[in-house]
Amino acid sequence: MAILTAHELTKQYTGEEIPALNHANLAIAAGEFVAIVGPSGSGKSTLLHLLGGVDKPTSGTVQLYDTDVFALNETQLAIFRRRQVGLIYQFYNLLPTLTVQENMTLPADLDGRKIPGAELSDLLATLGLTEKAGALPSELSGGQQQRVAIGRALINHPAIVLADEPTGNLDQRNSQEIMALLRAANTTRGQTLVVITHDPAIAAQADRVLTITDGKLTGGGGNGHH
Ligand code: ADP
Ligand code: ADP
Repeated sequence: MAILTAHELTKQYTGEEIPALNHANLAIAAGEFVAIVGPSGSGKSTLLHLLGGVDKPTSGTVQLYDTDVFALNETQLAIFRRRQVGLIYQFYNLLPTLTVQENMTLPADLDGRKIPGAELSDLLATLGLTEKAGALPSELSGGQQQRVAIGRALINHPAIVLADEPTGNLDQRNSQEIMALLRAANTTRGQTLVVITHDPAIAAQADRVLTITDGKLTGGGGNGHH
């Protein structure tokens, strides 16, 4: 069954003549691992941001199960983003003045939820960050920073994990570690995983590959055919 669907999803940025995303239809099954590929500027990040509720479409809808994401009010939308969506970026987007542990627990803290000590230790250990819990992001390598970002994305056990070129700034060894962590979330915890990538080796691991060219999505499934 589909967990995440997009119907005729369109984004036209103000002042732009051509839509960045043009009537995209998409249905992603619960537990699916989907890769999104396409040239730079084709609309991949735009689609990911709309799916995660971090940007609003010009028209069209996104549904998580039966929730119409953009029908939520701002408060509900903020809660939706914290609890249902884990977002991972190419350049980590950690808060520089917070420690590793503080960055990781931020989405739970914002929800007023205290992570049990054992759960936090387990997550730090899984991510290879036990020794770094009190360190600042500036004291970490790129691969370590991305592991913190994964911890932050997973802390609230979101239904969907959205990653925008998560290995784009990393060497091959770190890339493989990051993908192994994301795939473990997908295969062992059943979290739905959507990854934008330029790496054919990563796309080859996915259950399905979507292609975007000039804002046009292909391979999305969904009910775009009338
Ligand atoms: P990709 O992720 O495939 O590189 P993007 O979704 O980032 O593509 O961008 C798609 C198009 O939308 C590009 O032409 C880009 O310049 C434009 N774009 C992206 N974000 C904005 C924005 N905030 N304002 C105006 N144009 C944007
Ligand atoms: P990528 O190509 O790796 O997806 P970009 O550098 O195109 O990333 O975009 C990064 C962010 O910068 C986008 O998510 C968007 O918010 C902003 N952006 C991109 N293109 C434009 C644009 N033409 N005008 C304004 N903001 C943009």
